[in-house]
Amino acid sequence: MQNDSTAANPLLDFSAMPRFEDIKPEHVEPAIRSLIDENRALIERLTAEPGTPTWDGFVSPMDEAGERLGRAWGVVGHLHSVFDVPEWREAYNAMLPEISRFYAEVGQNLALFEKYKALHDSPEFATLSPVRQRILGHGLRDFRLSGAELPDDQKPRFQEIQEEQSQLAAKFSENLLDATNAHAEWVSDEAGLAGIPDDARQAARAAAEAEGKPGWKFTLQMPSYLPVLQYADDRELRARMYRAYATRASELGKPELDNGPLIGRILALRDEEARMLGYRNFAEVSLVPKMADTPEQVLGFLRDLAAKAKPFAEKDLEELKAFARAELGLDTLEPWDVAYASEKLRQARYAYSDQEVKQYFPEPKVLDGLFGVIRALYRVDILPDEAPTWDPDVRFFRIEKEGELVGHFYLDLHARSTKRGGAWMDSARSRHRNTWGSDTPVAYLVCNFPGPVGGKPATFTHDDVLTLFHECGHGLHHLLTQVDELAVSGIHGVEWDAVELPSQFMENFCWEWDVLQGMTAHVDTGAPLPRALYDKMIAAKNFQSGMQTVRQLEFSIFDLRLHGEVDASSGPVPIERVMALLDEVRREVAVMIPPAWHRFPHSFSHIFAGGYAAGYYSYKWAEVLSADAFEAFEEAGAGKGSLLDPETGERFWREILAVGGSRPALDSFKAFRGREPRVDALLRHSGMVAQA
Ligand SMILES: [Zn+2]
Repeated sequence: MQNDSTAANPLLDFSAMPRFEDIKPEHVEPAIRSLIDENRALIERLTAEPGTPTWDGFVSPMDEAGERLGRAWGVVGHLHSVFDVPEWREAYNAMLPEISRFYAEVGQNLALFEKYKALHDSPEFATLSPVRQRILGHGLRDFRLSGAELPDDQKPRFQEIQEEQSQLAAKFSENLLDATNAHAEWVSDEAGLAGIPDDARQAARAAAEAEGKPGWKFTLQMPSYLPVLQYADDRELRARMYRAYATRASELGKPELDNGPLIGRILALRDEEARMLGYRNFAEVSLVPKMADTPEQVLGFLRDLAAKAKPFAEKDLEELKAFARAELGLDTLEPWDVAYASEKLRQARYAYSDQEVKQYFPEPKVLDGLFGVIRALYRVDILPDEAPTWDPDVRFFRIEKEGELVGHFYLDLHARSTKRGGAWMDSARSRHRNTWGSDTPVAYLVCNFPGPVGGKPATFTHDDVLTLFHECGHGLHHLLTQVDELAVSGIHGVEWDAVELPSQFMENFCWEWDVLQGMTAHVDTGAPLPRALYDKMIAAKNFQSGMQTVRQLEFSIFDLRLHGEVDASSGPVPIERVMALLDEVRREVAVMIPPAWHRFPHSFSHIFAGGYAAGYYSYKWAEVLSADAFEAFEEAGAGKGSLLDPETGERFWREILAVGGSRPALDSFKAFRGREPRVDALLRHSGMVAQA
């Protein structure tokens, strides 16, 4: 690969950390082209070879070539995210279609599929390690789910189904967006704005001005809609906005934007796809690559949680109704009063200022606290290290265990105008053994926190701290892996509904009094977080958690039953059938039943236009796992005095973090916890505990 034309291209240098100081946009096209060519040529050569493929002669070279392309393109994608100047944006976008085309082509390459299958059916298979057997099994599974094993005469229909599904999903989103934009509420009299915060008023005024009109224009977009529902004293305005929002993209609005028929068609196509693949329904297809085994199992889990959460939700609602009656004069609590009354109740009971909390979280203290938690749990050292970076603000660290290198990470904490929003962890390099030795993992941890001002350290909100711990949890999953096979090391190959376990797990430490004492120091006085403020933070965290939980469960159960129980074998499902199912689910788990004209499914993009079909439950599923895992540390702490218990930490590392996707997530969980997951810890952490 190292011929004359590519030797000088730093993107093609895989010997150490990416050479961020040398890599320029003009290197992208030649490097990525040559790597795609290399991969294509290799695939062509390997699929043309006669005879049964072997792991060393087929899978290894495929993995290595794929890894080089993945790493080089990873650097380009990373720079596009953290250094989004026009030249880099152009370089990234210029190659994006080619990259997408290449990966799509690999996924549909039947000759490749045949080779994997031949290896799977060969005598060598029995001699492979369980991990390698698992990797081959997953590879074949993914090909199969894309229709690779269908008889030739069925393949065109399968392709058609896929294409129509993508078109319908795109149309669903477009209709929803257009319907959201189609409605506006105009307020002409300033008195009508009572209660609405200044920034929302200013935005509404600007929106009116943009159309050359007097008054204030409120829209159904979240930043405009939500403040009205939460704060507007004008009940009629709230009611009109609520109804407009709840009926978006339905037959109650513009007929050309009605998502109802699309929903029926999408369900029928998914059903047809499932049957072609040999499953009873689409819920089964969705669960194949996930941790959960069957729709019945997931439904059982959701219903168990619902039965336990519902009494708390009822209590939340009673409390809200009583408050609305006594303090707000609202004798009947209508759906458009819920957000309004809740906000008033929250302020009355639990309000504290984020600004006040922030003073206790200066960046150096928070990082010390975070690193301290990691050191205590896993007995590792986190040491500053040197490597080229993309910005002088970026720091670089190495993790060592008893003097031995485990991995590296970049820490890019502060917002910059060239950085995309949000926070994320990404892989710069994955742990694996290859023909030239072993690579240790390297991670990017990227956040968008405020930077230091006026010579003072930056201070973080508690939400920022949660975000940092969350991403660091993903980072540790990537960095502490002990697996040598690329396809399942770190977060690779981890089931989709289990991948948030290590990240949500880390968040729990940010709610622990003892941990917070060690990671807070007031910027001026150096005092740790006071107990009274901490108590308020906990109360606010659990505010209405019963109502929020049953709402999430309502969506999850509806999604799962819609894809598992509703018969779509004879064509598009009538929307009445969809609404009837939702009513049924609400009668079972909801405490606040919306009006009959509410059209929730018509805007449920997660399952009709996102990747969450029969998978919305994953949010709660992962939360249960992470809370239950954390409970093991609480139990250890109760016995030993500190929940930062190295023995439990070592077990968490060994059974969960170290194994990555090399075995089923449920096996890992059980190996760590000694039993199946239980919902109790999550309920307790959310304040849903029966008072004795
Ligand atoms: Zn996450």
